Amino acid sequence: MQNKLKKKLKQKEFYCVKCRKRVLADDICVQMLKNKKVKGGVPTLSGYCNNCDTLLYKFIKHADKSKLNKKFGKC
Ligand SMILES: [Zn+2]
Repeated sequence: MQNKLKKKLKQKEFYCVKCRKRVLADDICVQMLKNKKVKGGVPTLSGYCNNCDTLLYKFIKHADKSKLNKKFGKC
């Protein structure tokens, strides 16, 4: 595998803190994280690491939320 750092993660790619690398996630869904500062919460994509089953999160844009909701579904 190439270890080049690209600027953007692909849609199904997450950074796994346990593996300390980019991984492909399983069971991806859209989840709203509660945040006191943000009304309605912060949209994230969450999934499980293919290698170690750690729960992964990444923040997504509000504008992308409905699109990703349709594609992956809500958690
Ligand atoms: Zn992992």
